[in-house]
Amino acid sequence: ESFQDLNLRPELLMGLQVMNFHKPSKIQERALPLLLKNPATNLIGQSQSGTGKTAAFVLNMLSRIDLSTQQPQCLVLAPTRELARQIAGVTNVMGAFLGEKGLLVTEAIPQTLPKGKVQGQIVVGTPGTVMDLIQRRRSLDPRGIKVLTLDEADNMLDLQGMGDQCKRVKKMLQANAQVVLFSATFPDKVLEFASLFAPDANQITL
Ligand code: AMP
Repeated sequence: ESFQDLNLRPELLMGLQVMNFHKPSKIQERALPLLLKNPATNLIGQSQSGTGKTAAFVLNMLSRIDLSTQQPQCLVLAPTRELARQIAGVTNVMGAFLGEKGLLVTEAIPQTLPKGKVQGQIVVGTPGTVMDLIQRRRSLDPRGIKVLTLDEADNMLDLQGMGDQCKRVKKMLQANAQVVLFSATFPDKVLEFASLFAPDANQITL
């Protein structure tokens, strides 16, 4: 299996080449065909960090965005600002060749937020900040979001109130948004949450 076989945008194949990713990791090989084939597919994936899960969900998002508009189209929720920043960084590098047409990745980090509407096809942040942008500031329009990704779901559920915040964010989106959830572990708590959060999801465990 190769990245070429996955029918990725040529610009993404170039991004992968620059990153020195020559063939998909296990989780990428299993997740990407499912995610890319059908926009209605929800996925929950169990994958430790170090297995390449970030690229799996980033490639899915970069494959789906419409570059002719800078409206937010994909949303990533992460447990910490530091992780959000890292994910935004990977997304920018991987999507660098889409750049000239206007790839915009926004870190929803309070210190770096612009005044006015959040622009950018992909928005990455912690659930509390993202909720604040949607509800209180009304600067993030949730209606155009077609992919919602949760990273490190187990860590998020360990933080007081974060699971509920994720649910509140999801309620603001269109019902048919694709939900992708990754977690290093699948204890009952995570599986229960996932069964509501990502109904009828395909499940991948490594
Ligand atoms: P992650 O599990 O997303 O934290 O990724 C772990 C590390 O593996 C990161 O340093 C990635 O840059 C690297 N990586 C991810 N996918 C691949 C791949 N297909 N080929 C080579 N390195 C990869």
